[in-house]
Amino acid sequence: MLSPSLGPRLVSVVGRQEVSPDSVRLRFAAPEAASAAQPGQFLHLRCGTSLDPLLRRPFSVHAVDPVVGTVSILFRVVGAGTAWLARRHPGDVVDLWGPLGRGFVLHPGDGWLVAGGVGVAPLLFLAARLREQGAAPQLLWGARRRQELAAVADFEHLGIPVELATDDGSEGHHGPVTDLLAEVLSGRRAPVYACGPRPMLRRVGELTRQAAVTAQVSLEERMACGVGACQGCACPRRGGGYALVCHDGPVFPAEEVELG
Ligand SMILES: Cc1cc2nc3c(=O)[nH]c(=O)nc-3n(C[C@H](O)[C@H](O)[C@H](O)COP(=O)(O)OP(=O)(O)OC[C@H]3O[C@@H](n4cnc5c(N)ncnc54)[C@H](O)[C@@H]3O)c2cc1C
Repeated sequence: MLSPSLGPRLVSVVGRQEVSPDSVRLRFAAPEAASAAQPGQFLHLRCGTSLDPLLRRPFSVHAVDPVVGTVSILFRVVGAGTAWLARRHPGDVVDLWGPLGRGFVLHPGDGWLVAGGVGVAPLLFLAARLREQGAAPQLLWGARRRQELAAVADFEHLGIPVELATDDGSEGHHGPVTDLLAEVLSGRRAPVYACGPRPMLRRVGELTRQAAVTAQVSLEERMACGVGACQGCACPRRGGGYALVCHDGPVFPAEEVELG
C-alpha cells in the first residue's frame, strides 16, 4: 500500500541542467520521495498543465539527497510530455507521484552497471547505493554518439570507473556496449544491473546466462496508470503468464521476463 505522503502532490523544481543537446536533469524539492526512494523505482509525473498529455509519464529516480530533501530525474526529450518537462525551471511546480514500482535488489559483489543511452538514469542512484555498501561497481555505457555521454562526470565523481561505447565510434569502443560486457565477464564475474533499449537487454540476458551471472534489467515499457490497474504495460514472463512493468517491476531478474 502506497503511503499517502507518496501520493500525487505538487513539488517545486529546484534545479535544472541541460546535460546534453537533448537531455535535461531536473531536481525537485520532495523530502518524502527522497527518503523513500530505492534505486530502480520511478516517479510518475504529469507533463502539462491541461489534460494534454492526459497520461502521466514515468521517469527513473536518478539521484536523491535525503538530507536536503531532493530527488532528481534525467530524461531525453522525445515527445510532447518530455518537451514540456524540459521547459520547467527553478520555481516552477510539477505534479509528482511516487516513488513507484520495484527497484533493484542489491546483491553482494561489486557489480557491472550496463547502460544504453538515457538508460543510465537509474544507474547513478544505484551506483551511489552500492558505493555506500562498500561495493566497487563499474559502469559500461553505450550511446549513439559521444554528445549523449555527457553525464559521465557524475559517475567519475563517485569514483566509479567508466568504459564507453558509441555506435558511430566517436568515443570509446566502436560498437554495442554489450561487446564490453562480453569482454569483462570473461575476466570478472559480478552481478549485472542493466537499463536500456530492448535489444541491449536481450543481449545482456544472453551473456549473463552463458556466464552464469545474476542479472537484473529495468524495463522502460510504455505505461499508463503506473500502479497495476490498467494492465497497459504487461510483459510476457518466461515460462508463461504476464508481469506488469509498473507494479511487478520495472526491474526484473533477467531470466524472469521475455526480452525478445
Ligand atoms: C519505468 C520507466 C522509467 C523511465 N525512465 C526514464 C528516464 O529516466 N529517462 C528518460 O528519458 N525516459 C525514461 N522513460 C521513458 C519515458 O517515460 C518516455 O520517454 C516518456 O514517457 C515520453 O513521453 P513524451 O510525451 O515526451 O513522448 P510521447 O509523445 O509519449 O512519445 C514520443 C516517442 O517516444 C516513444 N516512446 C515513448 N515512451 C516510450 C517508452 N517507454 N519506450 C519506448 N519508446 C517510447 C513513442 O513511441 C514515440 O515515438 C522511462 C519509462 C519507464 C516505463
